[in-house]
Amino acid sequence: MKSTSHLPRLGAFAALIALLSCAPALAEDYNCYFGNTHAHTTYSDGKQMPSDHYSMAKAAGYDFYAITNHALAKYKGFTQESYEATKKEADKFTDAAFVAICGFEFSENDGPGGTGHLCALNTTGYLDATGNEVNLPVFYDWLTKQKTTVAASFNHPGVNTYDSYGYLTASRREEVQMYEVINSGKPHYEGFIAALEKGWRVAPIAAEDGHGTGRIKDTYRTGVLATSLTRENLMQAMRARRVYCTWDKNLRLQFIANGRIMGSVLASPTSLEFTVIVSDPDTSDAGDAIAKIEIVGKKGAAVASKEFASHEVKWTTTCEPKDDYYFVKVYTADKTDGPTAYSAPIWIEKAQPDSSTGGNDVQKN
Ligand SMILES: [Zn+2]
Ligand SMILES: [Zn+2]
Repeated sequence: MKSTSHLPRLGAFAALIALLSCAPALAEDYNCYFGNTHAHTTYSDGKQMPSDHYSMAKAAGYDFYAITNHALAKYKGFTQESYEATKKEADKFTDAAFVAICGFEFSENDGPGGTGHLCALNTTGYLDATGNEVNLPVFYDWLTKQKTTVAASFNHPGVNTYDSYGYLTASRREEVQMYEVINSGKPHYEGFIAALEKGWRVAPIAAEDGHGTGRIKDTYRTGVLATSLTRENLMQAMRARRVYCTWDKNLRLQFIANGRIMGSVLASPTSLEFTVIVSDPDTSDAGDAIAKIEIVGKKGAAVASKEFASHEVKWTTTCEPKDDYYFVKVYTADKTDGPTAYSAPIWIEKAQPDSSTGGNDVQKN
């Protein structure tokens, strides 16, 4: 993007520039960045300091790494001061090759209004789930008031967590964009479908949830599609749901429908042209070859599928827009017990919801 600093500060001009810079990037403009969204340090119930986590992740080749201590008063190490100290460390470790993020985990275990854990990333402050009259809807609404570019995820979720994915409104739907389909090396796929069926627009991520630095050596990753590696770009990509999860540490994945990148919402398309671009740079490793791609719709049922035997695949196919969302499952040669990667969905918004059947998928609560 060209610098605009020499342009006159005229209203119309500025508006035009803003419009141009907001135009959706082409698929080929995105890089894949790999990292972890969830970790605990000695400031709550984990081990080692934020600087230990960030330096180890950076040395291990991560593009980004988030520290998300439980924001709970019962942990004496978790205070406004230690949160500020974590933000300072994150700034110190962030450079052109690595982005450190500070966030927290909202850990609702037994309070009113349902249970479940969520990470909130890049917030200036935090919310204690055990605080007076704090519960899930209060947390969702707290997210809408943040001034920085924040993103949130459902953590180690199940089919019925978060009061069965309740309290959903149109504005809250925009505040939780990600879902841990992989947490600490375990799959959480069934709840992902449950959340999508409830109407949440969430995209799959992989989180270590390490209570120490031990899982930094693990190979599952959250992939983020961004045009360059800055914290702001990563946060905007997470908000736009341009994320995916992969058991492989460097598998690259893009899913496109009618020219729109994954995470997008398409308004009543009459036909769908899907393109899936997958590659793995480890071409000398036969196990990393792409073996199969499935495009799936409602409840994860396949609507198109094709087999491959290559480390680099671009596949285009068409289908009729019948379902509310579509996403991609990628299978590699070495993994026989299920997909290696899941893309963010692309959502289909029907133009005129049928109010007689409840119409749109937003549950008021
Ligand atoms: Zn948790
Ligand atoms: Zn955790």
